[in-house]
Amino acid sequence: VSGFDDLNVAVLGMGRSGLAAARALRAGGAVPLAWDDGAEGRVRAEAEGIALRDLTRPGAFDDIACLVVSPGIPHLYPAPNPVIRAALEAGVPVDNDIGLFFRSLATDGFADHDTPPRVIAVTGSNGKSTTSALIHHCLQAAGVPAQLAGNIGRGVLDIDPPGDGAVVVLELSSYQTDLARALTPDIAVFTNLSPDHLDRHGGMGGYFAAKRRLFAEGGPDRAVIGVDEAEGLFLAGQMAEAPGDPRVIRVSVARKLAGPGWNVHARKGFLAETRKGKQIGSIDLRGIPGLPGTHNHQNACAAYAALRALNLAPRAIEAGLRSFAGLAHRSQTVATRAGVTFVNDSKATNVDSAAQALRAFPRIRWIAGGLGKEGGIAALAPDLGAVVKAYLIGHSARDFALQLGVIPHEICETLDAAVAAAAAEAEPGDTVLLAPAAASFDQFPDFEKRGEAFIAAVAALDAR
Ligand code: ADP
Repeated sequence: VSGFDDLNVAVLGMGRSGLAAARALRAGGAVPLAWDDGAEGRVRAEAEGIALRDLTRPGAFDDIACLVVSPGIPHLYPAPNPVIRAALEAGVPVDNDIGLFFRSLATDGFADHDTPPRVIAVTGSNGKSTTSALIHHCLQAAGVPAQLAGNIGRGVLDIDPPGDGAVVVLELSSYQTDLARALTPDIAVFTNLSPDHLDRHGGMGGYFAAKRRLFAEGGPDRAVIGVDEAEGLFLAGQMAEAPGDPRVIRVSVARKLAGPGWNVHARKGFLAETRKGKQIGSIDLRGIPGLPGTHNHQNACAAYAALRALNLAPRAIEAGLRSFAGLAHRSQTVATRAGVTFVNDSKATNVDSAAQALRAFPRIRWIAGGLGKEGGIAALAPDLGAVVKAYLIGHSARDFALQLGVIPHEICETLDAAVAAAAAEAEPGDTVLLAPAAASFDQFPDFEKRGEAFIAAVAALDAR
């Protein structure tokens, strides 16, 4: 990271990305001063020879050029973090690793390229990881050097220096886009928008604003925008300077997109690219094992559009889509026992993503619950037609039970008990689906551990 020669830069939070930021700052000639509220974080910093500075002390920011904040730390809502607040009161700029990354790219941080690396940044409420991984996979399959970073893969300041003509695919959450001072990808992708994480953004307006920063003035050369919600449609409209502006590629799985512009849509399982009213390419997405369901067709369209923006040939993209294995914990089929399929969608932490899974199977024994979000599962009422019975776990089990009304359900408390009960009652053709519509933190460290626990519980059934 360049531009801070001999200057003190404070780094708050000594997790993976904070440590990487401190290292990158040091390598670029700055003096990183680390702080973590937890003793373990401070020990990690010291172990790497990174000096500590107690940022909670008065006057801590007197000689600091910038404060770099880790993504896990809430910066404004529900309450301003006191350290960030102190920096702002002292007039110190606040940034994060993503901002430092773009700053380095713009200056000489990744020096001496004949062809500088290109960056594709992916944001949105759902499908970010799948879309980012899909883009990365297609690039690799086509022989283009590519790295996956951000929320998925490695921390952005942990990646290998990208070589000539390489592509960096970045998955960005709203927390990251909200704080980064520089956001200048070559291609920005907006998958969709649904209410999630509203607590940390002070409502839907703030949440959309955070995601939108990626598309601000001086932003991407090309924007791929899902237009199936009002916000995406609005964003696409704002980005276009004239009708059919090729800077914007619109994506839909709800309708056939026509008009003078550049569009990618999927209907009834067929992806089509149109430009200036003419169809350029088409791909049959049905039966691609890594991309089941309409929501994955949306991800496929977004990835396809981003890759076309990089000039990859439709056939090369198609080959990549076909060989994509899918990501763990997202509609992942983990076993089939006596005609019953077990699907791990632990990543379905909000109602919108759970709805996708609930629409994808004909007879569902639904394992749900955890740390519920505002509104519980009330919004899922129209999507529960295939649910034969719900098996409720975690903190929200009783609230979810009330909202289920007449749909058969049982309070199982734990995931193990839910898997055992659902498996015992399932008939051939049923799907036992973990799609919690809730966060995992009441019973598990994260959604990955919850998904692994589901897989282990399913495996344990065979041992009975
Ligand atoms: P993110 O990184 O945005 O959280 P993931 O790709 O990890 O997205 O998917 C999160 C959850 O949302 C999973 O349960 C997945 O099945 C579901 N999902 C994936 N893509 C979409 C989409 N385009 N729209 C709605 N839900 C989706």
